[in-house]
Amino acid sequence: MAQSIPAPAQGSFGGRDRNFEKMSPELVLHEDRLFPSDPGQRAIARRLYNGVRNLPIISPHGHTDPEWFAENKAFSDPATLLITPDHYIYRMLYSRGVALESLGIPRTDGGEVERDPRKIWRLFAQHWHLFRGTPTQLWLHHALHEVFGVRERLTSESADRIYDAVSHCLSSPEFLPRALFERFRIEVLATTESPLDPLAHHLKLRRSDWKGRIVPTYRPDPVVDPEYEDFSANVRRLGAITGEDSETWTGYLKALEDRRRFFKSLGATATDHGHVSAATSDLSRSQCESLFEKAVSGTISPAEAELFRGQMLMEMARMSIEDGLVLQLHPGSFRNHNSAIFRGFGRDRGADIPLPTDFVRNLKPLLDRYGNDSRLSIILFTLDESAYSRELAPLAGHYPVLTLGPAWWFYDSPEGMRFYRERTMETAGFYNTAGFNDDTRAFPSIPARHDVARRMDCAFLARLVAEHRLDEDEAREVAVDLAYRLAKRIYRL
Ligand SMILES: [Zn+2]
Repeated sequence: MAQSIPAPAQGSFGGRDRNFEKMSPELVLHEDRLFPSDPGQRAIARRLYNGVRNLPIISPHGHTDPEWFAENKAFSDPATLLITPDHYIYRMLYSRGVALESLGIPRTDGGEVERDPRKIWRLFAQHWHLFRGTPTQLWLHHALHEVFGVRERLTSESADRIYDAVSHCLSSPEFLPRALFERFRIEVLATTESPLDPLAHHLKLRRSDWKGRIVPTYRPDPVVDPEYEDFSANVRRLGAITGEDSETWTGYLKALEDRRRFFKSLGATATDHGHVSAATSDLSRSQCESLFEKAVSGTISPAEAELFRGQMLMEMARMSIEDGLVLQLHPGSFRNHNSAIFRGFGRDRGADIPLPTDFVRNLKPLLDRYGNDSRLSIILFTLDESAYSRELAPLAGHYPVLTLGPAWWFYDSPEGMRFYRERTMETAGFYNTAGFNDDTRAFPSIPARHDVARRMDCAFLARLVAEHRLDEDEAREVAVDLAYRLAKRIYRL
């Protein structure tokens, strides 16, 4: 890349050309971003990165909307594509006083919210400085620069020009969802759905002649967590969909198995569980039946609900042994922490806060039963970084069924990734980890997120090479495994 010449800081001197002063600073993506500042290590990181930068993207866990690819309609506007689906963005804006209504987030009571995407974009641009130094800034800069060809920084002054440039792109065929999917070199993309989802878009994709590979992931929280909104109604619907008597323990399990088969028939290779803790339980049949009855009738206590969720992880592990779906556990998020936001806007509105998570004691019942079964594969994620070296690396470095998912959510960040490798590699190695996944709703940020992960892993490996702890040819191989092969292998894709 040609060396960019940074524009002078805005408003620092008087008497400049008026037009020049109107320009926003140039948007520069530095070739060496995220690499070590030590010149020796940096040179190694560059070489390693050159071996992985253009590898296809494996995206085995995420939250993009399969409708985009099934319908392949143009994305409507820059705000709906880049701002509204991204809770990283609106949690930060909300924290500095921006009302969710003004960002167009729908209210549960159907009340008025901003509908003009250009106004939403301007508001975002006005607050863009809040994201300085955050991964969101890295991701958006990458998307604007690499996907949309934007060459000036987002400011209040440039907001309209950038909006127009992105809008213009979105109206052309090269920016349709399927075209972007191909341009991003995505080899496979997993979405996430409830067992109650008819998977209509996935069905349509399967029947289409488009070759892009998009698979669902089975996320049963709405039907296995008694504290989930409308749990009882969800269980009834599960019965209606499957033709099983889902209000009996046996019928309920059969219905869950039935939906797993359906997901698998559309390409699913994994399940995902967003439990509040990593608790697992191994209860007797009569205990299961009695807890289930209380859950369905809405009389279950919080402690019993926790036991029930734990039992359901055990049931899901048993089903995984039978049908081969990989089990992902994403515990430790206190969901919908802000009650007013939950009442006003519903779930997933950026009000989720991490909790300390115990894996060693909580996973014991499940590992006692299935921890040595080679047919089972469990991927553990955490929002509790203190657990990496104390619990997770030792667990994954011992039990054959366990691997570690990548640094997740708040730690899907340069510092989070560095810390993750530092705290897990020596005990669990690289090969008890599951590669990278982007876990995003923000489609244009997918290449950016994988690029950050690839750079950070190359930076980490470069240090090992520079310290003569690993030969460069081995590091080169590890870099490819972390960027590509491990995700494919561990997720059975
Ligand atoms: Zn997720």
